[in-house]
Amino acid sequence: MISLSSSIMAVDSTLSSAVGASVSEKDAKALQFIEEMTKNVDSVQERILGEILSRNADTEYLKRFQLNGATDRDTFKSKVPVVTYEDLQPEIQRIANGDKSPILSSHPISEFLTSSGTSAGERKLMPTIHEELNRRQLLYSLLMPVMNLYMPGLDKGKGLYFLFIKAETKTPGGLLARPVLTSYYKSDHFKSRPYDPFNVYTSPNETILCPDSIQSMYAQMLCGLIMREEVLRVGAVFASGLLKAIRFLQVNWKQFAHDIETGTLNPKVTDPSVRECMSKILKPNPELAAFITKECSEENWECIITRIWPNTKYLDVIVTGAMAQYIPTLEYYSGGLPMACTMYASSECYFGLNLKPMCKPSEVSYTIMPNMAYFEFLPHDDSSAQDSSRDALPRLVDLADLKVGKEYELIVTTYAGLCRYRVGDILRVTGFHNAAPQFRFIRRKNVLLSIDSDKTDESELQQAIENASVLLKEFNTSVVEYTSYADTKQIPGHYVIYWELFVKDAVNAPTDEVLSQCCFEMEESLNAVYRQCRVADSIGPLEIRVVKNGTFEELMDYAISRGASINQYKVPRCVSFTPIMELLDSRVVSKHFSPALPHWTPERRC
Ligand code: AMP
Repeated sequence: MISLSSSIMAVDSTLSSAVGASVSEKDAKALQFIEEMTKNVDSVQERILGEILSRNADTEYLKRFQLNGATDRDTFKSKVPVVTYEDLQPEIQRIANGDKSPILSSHPISEFLTSSGTSAGERKLMPTIHEELNRRQLLYSLLMPVMNLYMPGLDKGKGLYFLFIKAETKTPGGLLARPVLTSYYKSDHFKSRPYDPFNVYTSPNETILCPDSIQSMYAQMLCGLIMREEVLRVGAVFASGLLKAIRFLQVNWKQFAHDIETGTLNPKVTDPSVRECMSKILKPNPELAAFITKECSEENWECIITRIWPNTKYLDVIVTGAMAQYIPTLEYYSGGLPMACTMYASSECYFGLNLKPMCKPSEVSYTIMPNMAYFEFLPHDDSSAQDSSRDALPRLVDLADLKVGKEYELIVTTYAGLCRYRVGDILRVTGFHNAAPQFRFIRRKNVLLSIDSDKTDESELQQAIENASVLLKEFNTSVVEYTSYADTKQIPGHYVIYWELFVKDAVNAPTDEVLSQCCFEMEESLNAVYRQCRVADSIGPLEIRVVKNGTFEELMDYAISRGASINQYKVPRCVSFTPIMELLDSRVVSKHFSPALPHWTPERRC
C-alpha cells in the first residue's frame, strides 16, 4: 500500500522544527512521512525487498535463481546476479514483442519508459507497471511540503514551468514506449490532479500536452508572459530546458508582443485544443506588449528572467550532474536567483529528494527514499569490487550501511522487475538525515559529453570518429589524435571535437567541404538521443576544430608538468579545464560545422 500514513498526525517534525517553519496539516503529514522513512531506513528496505520478492517469486526471472520462496536479503544477495541493461535485453525484447507471461514482473508490464541512456545507439526500454505511477506521485507530493519550509507564500502565485511531452512509439507487441515524464503528464495523476494552491502552473494542461513541441513552447511562454506578475518561480526539469525557453523568447519576442497587443494567437499555432484554451487567456494588452518589446529589444539580456518575471523567488531546475555547466548562464539570465534542485529520479525508478532545496548547487545532496525500491551500492573506489565479474557477485552495501565520504554506484531492485540493476550513476555520501544517507550526484559512469538529455560515452565518440575518418582516406589523411568538449557558452550548446590530422599529401589535403561532411558523419554515428536533440534544436551543429601538428604533444607536456606520469599518460578524450582549452584553442587552424541535421525518427533503428 503506498500512501502517506494517515495515522501520523503529529504536526511537528524534525524537518519543520529544524527551520522553525509553521506548517499546514497536509505538509506536516508529508514531512512526518519523510521522518518515518528516513528513521527506519533498514527496516523499510527489508520490507520492500520482501514485498518485491514475494510478489515476483513466480516470475521466470527469479525462478531461474532458485530462491525457493526466500525473501531475505542474504539469500537474494547470494543467488541473484548484478546485471546491466544488456544482460536483460533478451527478456526485454520478448516483452516488447508481446510475450505477456510473467517474465520479470508478476504484474503486467503497462508500458516501456524510454531512458535517455542508450544501448547500441538506441534508447533503453525500461519496463514499468501501472502502480509505479503512484510511487512517482508520492515522491512528487513530498517536494512542496519541503520547499514550503524554506520559501513561504508560494500559494500566493503561480509557477512558470516549461513542461513537454515527447514522441511515443509502440513496440512490436503493442506496448507504448515513451519517456517517463510523457507517461506522467499524460496520466490521470497529472491531468486530473486536485487543485492545490501550492502547485498552480501558468501553463494549462492543453499546452503541456500538445505533441508539437514548438507550439507547446510558444503557448507556454505566451501564458508566462501574460501572467508575468503572478509568477513566483520559473522552472523546467533540467537547466538545458529552461535555457531553451529563454532562447525561444529571444527568437520570438516580436511575435509574442504582437499576439499580446492584438489579443490574437499566432496562426502557426494550429493545435485546436491549444487555440481554444489560449482564446480564454489572451486579451489585447498593448501596455504589456510595449513592456515586452522594451525589455526584449535591448541588446543586454542580463537578468531577463527577473525583469520579465519580477516576483520570481527561485528557479526550479536541476543543475547537478551534467547540468552544472549551465549554472553561470542561468545566473546571468536570472541575476543570481537561487536554483532549487528538488529531486533525483530516472526511468528505472524515482529515487529521492533534496531536503534543503534552497542550498547552493554545489552543496545539493539527495536523500533516497527507502520506500521507492530496494537499493544496493557498489563501492566505486574499491577496484576489486568494481572489476569483479558478475559471476563472482561483487560485494554490495545496503542503504543503511554506507559510509560518509565514500563513492558508490547505485543498484536498484524495483517492483517492476529489475533485479540488482546497475543504474550507472556514481554518488558520494555527504551525510545522513536520520538514518538515511544523503548523496551528492557525482557523475554518470562512462559519459563523456552531454548537452541536453544526450549522453555520449567514450566508445560512441571513438566509433563516430572512425566513421568520419573514412572520408579522409582518399585524401591520404588520418586523425592522429582527438579530444572533445561540450561547448555550452551559447544556446543551444554543441559538441566540439579537436582533431590533429596527419596529411601525407599537402596538395591534396581535405577541403572545408570534406571536413564539414566529417562533422555530419559523426553526428549520423552518434546515438538516437543525440540525434533527436539535434532535430529538436536542443543541440547545435557539431564542430571540428583542426589543430596544428604537435598540439597533442604539447598537451601531454602540460599534463606532465602538472605531475602526470609519462608512463600512464593518456590523452583525455574530453576536456574542460580552462588552461587546456586555451592551449587547444590557440592552436586551431580551421573550424568546420555539420551542414545538416542528422537522421532521426521516433521509430527505433533495430
Ligand atoms: P532518464 O532515465 O533518461 O530519466 O535519466 C536518468 C538519469 O538522469 C539518472 O540516472 C541520472 O544520471 C540523471 N539525473 C536524474 N536526476 C538527476 C539529478 N537531480 N541530478 C543529476 N543527474 C540526474
